[in-house]
Amino acid sequence: MENRNAELIEKIISLKQRENAIILVHNYQLGEVQDIADFVGDSLELSQKAAKTEADVIVFCGVHFMAETASILCPDKTVLLPDMHAGCPMADMITAKRLQEKKKEHPKAVVVCYVNSSAEVKAESDVCCTSANAVRIVEKLTDAEEILFVPDQYLGNYVSTKTGRKMLLWPGFCPTHIRIQPHDISRLKAEHPQAKAVVHPECRPEVIALADEVLSTGGMIRFARESEAEEIIVGTEIGIIHRLRKENPGKRFIPVSEQAVCPTMKLITLETVLWSLENMANQVRVQQRTRLRAKAAVDKMLEGG
Ligand code: SF4
Repeated sequence: MENRNAELIEKIISLKQRENAIILVHNYQLGEVQDIADFVGDSLELSQKAAKTEADVIVFCGVHFMAETASILCPDKTVLLPDMHAGCPMADMITAKRLQEKKKEHPKAVVVCYVNSSAEVKAESDVCCTSANAVRIVEKLTDAEEILFVPDQYLGNYVSTKTGRKMLLWPGFCPTHIRIQPHDISRLKAEHPQAKAVVHPECRPEVIALADEVLSTGGMIRFARESEAEEIIVGTEIGIIHRLRKENPGKRFIPVSEQAVCPTMKLITLETVLWSLENMANQVRVQQRTRLRAKAAVDKMLEGG
């Protein structure tokens, strides 16, 4: 297995150089994929990196909306998603048509769209956000009479409690994060009384209520580095544990639930990365009209981030 991986990695590195490619990898990806990355990060960090890169090809190891966001920002670059089945079930819980209908019911509402959404939905939105900057983005909407937050009801609810802004929430959710249960956190806190519990804002409010910190995955990486806590209970998709352990060998990271696995994030492997690079296969592009409208919302997210 190790020999096979070494062979695959060698081929990927050589193709990457030949094609002037950069490999961007989300914190939830398999460890073997994280280890070949030029950059590993959360959605906001990856968008910022994509916006600035001078590479000709971006290999996006994440899910479809992330590759789309890279293409929205960099239309002249080739953006590859190594497996086209790597979608986000939460992003699929809203369509542009359903959002248009909701907007008709609430014509004055400012639409804040979590980046976990399709380009078409972003194009119908006023501003995008990630879990790292959602609170800051909503805080800036001082003139908004009404705010419609899509598609994650739990992130929306968290932002609403942090900002004191009442918002209309789309009833979407992340099927992976709802597997994180409050009783699991309570049990782990009892077993590890010195540990700090960090959770992602996609978790249910009952889980968030038990956390010491509510952070994006990028925030969790920084917290682990800077905190004096030696034991950290981690309430998010378990792919992040690989990076946390690798970067903080002296600390102990305890996942709240081994069930918190995003199956589509795990579709990307060394094999699919190599295959897409070899064949320039699985290119993600966004139609120009949609792209320009979506870009306006994404640009505001990057300005506000
Ligand atoms: S972890 Fe949840 S929000 Fe993230 S890609 Fe998977 S299903 Fe979507």
